[in-house]
Amino acid sequence: DTSRLIAPDKRGEDVDTTLRPQALDEFVGQAQARANLKVFIGAAKARGEALDHVLFVGPPGLGKTTLAQIMAKELGVNFRATSGPVIAKAGDLAALLTNLEERDVLFIDEIHRLSPAVEEILYPAMEDFQLDLIIGEGPAARSVKIDLSKFTLVAATTRIGLLTTPLRDRFGIPVRLNFYTVAELEHIVTRGARLMGLSMDEAGAKEIARRSRGTPRIAGRLLRRVRDFAEFAEAGTVTRKIADEALSRLEVDSLGLDQLDRRYLDLIALNFGGGPVGIETIAAALSEPRDAIEDIVEPYLLQQGFIQRTPRGRLLTQTAFRHLGLAVPAGYQG
Ligand code: ADP
Repeated sequence: DTSRLIAPDKRGEDVDTTLRPQALDEFVGQAQARANLKVFIGAAKARGEALDHVLFVGPPGLGKTTLAQIMAKELGVNFRATSGPVIAKAGDLAALLTNLEERDVLFIDEIHRLSPAVEEILYPAMEDFQLDLIIGEGPAARSVKIDLSKFTLVAATTRIGLLTTPLRDRFGIPVRLNFYTVAELEHIVTRGARLMGLSMDEAGAKEIARRSRGTPRIAGRLLRRVRDFAEFAEAGTVTRKIADEALSRLEVDSLGLDQLDRRYLDLIALNFGGGPVGIETIAAALSEPRDAIEDIVEPYLLQQGFIQRTPRGRLLTQTAFRHLGLAVPAGYQG
């Protein structure tokens, strides 16, 4: 259900790029990833070589695309972007690759969704900067090799487990992105409010930050909704109270959980006594695709300590029962 307010997937309104940081030093959070990238970018520039291929791993909305764009900018090269599901045929990828200039950044989002035939083309391109194409069919078929510019592939995936090992092994620089702290999100919200010309006090910014599910994309989205609410209410400044009213109306709870998160937790608590319950069962009961549950709903609930993954399925923790305002069943092991 992509109409969810906190769905971390991309939407039209997010393409509003005013809030997007443009340089590594403007990028808040992910300190370790940023520090490492700074070193690798500096070294590649000093040598005048293409940067090694980079793989970003982490839940949607944490800044993978943003970092890829920043990298191209800091390297002083072109940025080309596409995504796994968009590249239908090997020829589509071949066309992209042959158009790259030396040291360009090619960004492939959702790389785990590339088809095997396209992946085959990518291996020699990444390793030897060569395209191996088969031209013609049957006995007349012959293979041709085309040299490519030495480019940098920057790829992003929400789940590294879905990548084939040979593909994963071809990235010299794997970078994991983590959920942001409330302090980091507060910084992002404050900066966003300033760029929007919206007056907001510290407690207001903190309230939005606390309810952003550790995710900058959600912080930006909540910030825009709070702004609408504040303008409508003719509130001069966004305070904690204004932010709370706006977010409660949107059914974003005190920890940033939304309706789908609560449906997920309620289901396990009320229908399965807290679990363990298999992911397929959960997906069917919620009428949501399994992928969306695994990519969007569960990572944050895991990080918040609301659920555990066990070999027999998902298990609610006592913290989750308490957050739902439910009594923990007697003798509960979760
Ligand atoms: P992903 O590619 O991981 O799904 P994006 O790079 O598209 O995420 O980022 C989602 C949104 O969050 C963008 O609008 C971006 O401007 C914003 N954003 C991401 N990371 C940061 C950050 N560290 N500071 C400020 N804004 C950020």
